Amino acid sequence: MVVRATGRTWNIQRRTGFGWARGAIVVGFRWLTRRWLRHYHRPRRLPARLSLARAGAAFLVLAAFACAGQHAIAQPFRLPTANRFLFDQGAEDKFFAATPGKTWTTGCFGCVRSDGWQMHEGLDIRSVQRDKHGEPTDPVMATADGTVAYVNTRPSLSNYGNYVVLRHVIEGVEVYSLYAHLHSVRAELKAGEAVRTGEVIGVMGRTANTRQGIAKDRAHVHFELNLFLNERFDAWHRKTFPGQRNDHGAWNGQNLAGVDPRTIFLAERNQGAGFSFLNFLRGQTDLCRVLVRQTDFPWLRRYPALIRRNPVAEREGVAGYELAFNFNGVPFAATPRAASEIRGRARFQLLSVNEAEYRRNPCRKLVRSRGGRWELAGNGLRLLDLLTY
Ligand SMILES: [Zn+2]
Repeated sequence: MVVRATGRTWNIQRRTGFGWARGAIVVGFRWLTRRWLRHYHRPRRLPARLSLARAGAAFLVLAAFACAGQHAIAQPFRLPTANRFLFDQGAEDKFFAATPGKTWTTGCFGCVRSDGWQMHEGLDIRSVQRDKHGEPTDPVMATADGTVAYVNTRPSLSNYGNYVVLRHVIEGVEVYSLYAHLHSVRAELKAGEAVRTGEVIGVMGRTANTRQGIAKDRAHVHFELNLFLNERFDAWHRKTFPGQRNDHGAWNGQNLAGVDPRTIFLAERNQGAGFSFLNFLRGQTDLCRVLVRQTDFPWLRRYPALIRRNPVAEREGVAGYELAFNFNGVPFAATPRAASEIRGRARFQLLSVNEAEYRRNPCRKLVRSRGGRWELAGNGLRLLDLLTY
């Protein structure tokens, strides 16, 4: 019922946006043409020409408004290739590239691999265009307006192969899209350069540094939407994994916490202009809540829109933050806490675990149950350490 109701809202918005705009332009253009014709069949008089100029100007203003209206309801994220089977119910196997011998769900975002115990942090979107050798040739496009954050063109250095990361600011929230396994990246694409929604950034391919590689029939772009955890990732990595290589600085997959792009695309489709990325983030299901005895760390400065209000902490002063994490470790809410609201002295305190969510999506192993008591597992502690480093 809810979906249908929002669907109807979207249709109305579409009609008032696109339909009205197009209608206004067509009617205006016809009327102007008629006026021009009539004008040139009459003896020329200055006032007539003036009023015609005025009408023309009014029409241009109207058309500009119509276009602005179209722009205002444009969706923040667009599919990165021409494959649109995501929206055809029952055609999911034409959209998602499955892992060998498995169903299309293994190409989705989530705990979809190794019987639910391995995370896949993006969508594997199948190729729909191939050359005569069967190689993918699909242009890969920017999902939203943004700037180039990182380009890797040394495929042997990453299991992402050739990949591009773009930075977007949607409703004041920084989000990073990632496009992996590219055959090639557009030649002049450099960090810091602006890109527009739908602009081609590269060509789909099968690059990866994994031993088995990606077979031709599985050719896909691996697409992610991420929040960024810490700009000091490189230093944290050196401290945490001494002697281990990090070839991509802060643009290492470990520093990018993914949300589900499929849910976003479908919600945009259903809700149209009513879709809010910020509300989508704020509405994530929590896997756990953790108290951090720290009052300043990079994530707080990067995502102020995700900080909630607490009058007690505003009155008494902030002594720490309560963070809510979804199953993939995305911190999607922070509530300041006063000293009077904090009990233990530990740096990180696990406050609660959503057991139903843990049963649904356990694969990141952020928490674990020991003798009936929940505790932060190694992955959870490492994530918190990175976040607050
Ligand atoms: Zn993938």
